[in-house]
Amino acid sequence: MQEFIQEAKGADIRCFVVGGKVIAAIKRQGGSASLIKISAAERATAVNAAKAMGLNVCGVDLLRSNHGPVVMKVNSSPGLEGIETATQKDIADMIIDFIEKNAGKKPTNLVHEAKVKRFIMATQPKNQAITIAGETVLPGEQKTINVEIGKLFTHSELTAPIQVWCERQTGPILFISTAIHGDELNGVEIIRRLLKVKSLKRLKGTLMTVPIVNLHGFINHSRYLPDRRDLNRSFPGSANGSIAGRLAHTFMKEVVEKATHGIDLHTGAINRTNLPQIRADLDTEEVHAMANAFSAPVMLNADLRDGSLRAAAVKRGIPILLYEAGEALRFDEFSIRAGVNGIINVMRHLQMLPASRKKSPASKPVIARSSFWIRAPHSEIFRSLSADGARVEAKKTLIGVISDPFGQSEVEVYSPYSGIIIGQMKMPLVNQGEALYHIARFARSDVAEEQVDTYQEALMDESNLLYPTEDIPTLNE
Ligand SMILES: [Zn+2]
Repeated sequence: MQEFIQEAKGADIRCFVVGGKVIAAIKRQGGSASLIKISAAERATAVNAAKAMGLNVCGVDLLRSNHGPVVMKVNSSPGLEGIETATQKDIADMIIDFIEKNAGKKPTNLVHEAKVKRFIMATQPKNQAITIAGETVLPGEQKTINVEIGKLFTHSELTAPIQVWCERQTGPILFISTAIHGDELNGVEIIRRLLKVKSLKRLKGTLMTVPIVNLHGFINHSRYLPDRRDLNRSFPGSANGSIAGRLAHTFMKEVVEKATHGIDLHTGAINRTNLPQIRADLDTEEVHAMANAFSAPVMLNADLRDGSLRAAAVKRGIPILLYEAGEALRFDEFSIRAGVNGIINVMRHLQMLPASRKKSPASKPVIARSSFWIRAPHSEIFRSLSADGARVEAKKTLIGVISDPFGQSEVEVYSPYSGIIIGQMKMPLVNQGEALYHIARFARSDVAEEQVDTYQEALMDESNLLYPTEDIPTLNE
């Protein structure tokens, strides 16, 4: 409930707070804005409001009441039109200056550009058209664009479909990519369901979905490209490279560089599962906030791999999450549900979607301290006794057995450290040294295990899902 302040006579004061200082203030009354001198008390109130909200850049709207300044609203992405005209100051520039001075390292030009782009997106009232592969999508339009990524030796053209939803209202430009490894399919189903989520009717900004990046691999059920390259080691690519390099280059140019944020969807390799997990650079504040919002049960602070899409996006200042869940060439219901849910949570966090009254399932994600692999001591037949998400106690929990075909030699598998199983081998025939389990270590693995359980339970309940459920399988069959 807001207090009604009659003495303010319909006027409010917009204080622009940047880095703990009021850099400009205007009085707004009946559609007009004029410069105003504010009192020390008003200044302090505005600065404190920004601080309380944890915002470095914001607009604080005050009313002058008989008992001093009253905060009416704190806006994390205030428009600049009124204030720049009234103050004759280049507020956008001051904000970018502040962001740069506080970013720690000196940002590159590309990072600077990305920051400016994100800032402009957040402060302009109307969305802008976006052009991909020469085709323009106007605000209010949805288009599927086929981006040419090369020719086959049959002389037929090879294209990758990108669906672009350019909304009327401004907001971030988010890309969601899947099947960079051509045999990783969960992401394709995640995108199909995502596009059916009802609240997308109220989407702001621009959404670019790319369900099949590596078309060659997708057709051949293969992780790789015909040049035997791994696309996720070929970024940023080059216009004159081999197939993987060219594809990476086109994808960077047409999608990544036009976006302000990204989510890349993956699964485990063939015959290997992954518990739904986010891998990201959690030391970057913006990325950490997105990862938190996604709320996959487990987060790993993962180093950037040379040549990965994630590394190339980070170099361009684009915050990006990597979601790993399930296994190659299979649909995994829990991974798919957790993926759709996570993306919606991120879109709400980025204010592309309104905050929901009904809370969607979210686990309080736990950050793994580190992770390690348990490898097969011999070439034998492997039986796993533990599921993904299970907690293992160091040298105590029997997690699997490997034996010869007659069962004469049976070797029990234990973990050297306590943790949670976040991935495992599904194929019972293993060679010596092959990875059997991927285990993440936590400060409190009991808490981590509970998070996984609670989240899985919440997602099993179909009434918690955000899209129509007639055509999807149940999770606990
Ligand atoms: Zn992958």
